Amino acid sequence: MAWTMGHGCAWREGRGHLGRLVLLKRRAGWRNSACMHHQARHNRKATRAVNVGGVVIGGGAPVRVQSMTNTDTADVDATVEQVIALAEAGSELVRITVDRAEAAAAVPHIRERLLARGCEVPLIGDFHYIGHILLRDHPACAEALDKYRINPGNVGFGHKQDRNFAAIIDIALKHEKPVRIGANWGSLDQALLNELMEENGRREEPKDAREVMHEALVQSCLRSAARAEALGMAREHIILSAKVSEVPDLIAVYRMLSAAGDYALHLGLTEAGMGDAGVIASTAGLAVLLQEGIGDTIRVSITPEPGAPRTREVMVAQQILQALGLRAFMPDVIACPGCGRTTSTRFQELARTVSDFLARKTPEWRRQYPGFEELQVAVMGCIVNGPGESKHADVGISLPGTGEQPAAPVFVDGKKVATLRGEDLDAQFLQLLEDYVARRWGAAAGNAGQQG
Ligand code: SF4
Repeated sequence: MAWTMGHGCAWREGRGHLGRLVLLKRRAGWRNSACMHHQARHNRKATRAVNVGGVVIGGGAPVRVQSMTNTDTADVDATVEQVIALAEAGSELVRITVDRAEAAAAVPHIRERLLARGCEVPLIGDFHYIGHILLRDHPACAEALDKYRINPGNVGFGHKQDRNFAAIIDIALKHEKPVRIGANWGSLDQALLNELMEENGRREEPKDAREVMHEALVQSCLRSAARAEALGMAREHIILSAKVSEVPDLIAVYRMLSAAGDYALHLGLTEAGMGDAGVIASTAGLAVLLQEGIGDTIRVSITPEPGAPRTREVMVAQQILQALGLRAFMPDVIACPGCGRTTSTRFQELARTVSDFLARKTPEWRRQYPGFEELQVAVMGCIVNGPGESKHADVGISLPGTGEQPAAPVFVDGKKVATLRGEDLDAQFLQLLEDYVARRWGAAAGNAGQQG
């Protein structure tokens, strides 16, 4: 199996992991040492780079976050609003359902309206059963989309399956669009499954049914990919996925898929579940694979709580990548868990205030202060670990524990710069943070502008 070690510095986005490296380096006295990028990278499986509407997936590019709308695509207004919300939350590609003629007809209008609103996020069309007909009858839809998702389990049966699949590939070739061949355990190609089951039955030591299902999913992807290549599609236009709803199955299937070739891979659990259960299942499955270097783009398919924003899946995906040190999306706020040495909730409230403040400022600061996502802030509860941990962060504050003086020392880049006290302590600390970000990343942005 071929593996790559790290990438060019330009693609380094390993903030969370970098944060910990910075911490270790600071502890060891290596503050401001030269390029740490390579040390912050994980081994990634070498895959083909697939360009999806200007966003590269695989080939060493950062692991991409994608999401999917749940609006009726025929409802142009609602779909445009949701695509913009997902893109603004950080979804680098957005998939929309194209399930009938009205939806296909709406796609070019959705694209136009997005462009008019300044949103250039690549759009992926999700096709099932009649994708070959919709793409044939709606060439403007075929052109407006940046990638087509094909489910090999439901493009038809027997000869029809081959014909319909070939029709979609032909249209993709004509419009120079990549495809994702996305098998799913809920719609697995039954003919293939039966074939593998029969073959398994003839073995001296048959595998269990679950293993055969894994093999069927992987084979469904690989055979379809081979067919697409035989029809003239370059491997650089093919992404594979094989989604299941159980974490152990996900890990087993993707390990097999990754070992079988160098196709770019889209990771995700299907029907991960609702609320915390969905978040935890997705994190457990994706983290294992990503840590092994498997996966070029991820989608977290959590069922939103009624009324909860669709953008939650984007935030969860970002947090998974950030926790693994693969991407940087937002600053880290480190807070101690609290214990009997600090019986008030004061430091927890300040940690929440700081997190909310950074979340509010992030869209603006991302434009104004490129790189500020690497900021690390510590909010600590007492003198035991407070000053020490605060010194290791970029900006840290140590609030007084029970019985300590009502004063909070603040550390910037490891040095004590102030002692805050009084009722407006929160406001003073936020101001200090804002000044730090402007000073550190504003100067860098100014220099880049002058050089440009
Ligand atoms: S920093 Fe202080 S309050 Fe926080 S967990 Fe450690 S000992 Fe407890």
